[in-house]
Amino acid sequence: MKTIFLSLFFLAMATCKETTTVYLCNSDGGKKYHLRTDCRGLSNCHYQLISVTLEEAKKQGKTLCKWEK
Ligand SMILES: [Zn+2]
Repeated sequence: MKTIFLSLFFLAMATCKETTTVYLCNSDGGKKYHLRTDCRGLSNCHYQLISVTLEEAKKQGKTLCKWEK
């Protein structure tokens, strides 16, 4: 029973393509979000690295890091 539940859960996660995960440096002055944890812009982040959805990042007024692409 538990296995079926987990399977459905992961299926739901996989089919939900609207949700993009981005990464933030959790500092007060952080205004950017990043697409990868190994981004150049995150290498000098001395704060906690957190992952949020793209929607949440935009809601917080974050813009895409200049090092991306
Ligand atoms: Zn970046």
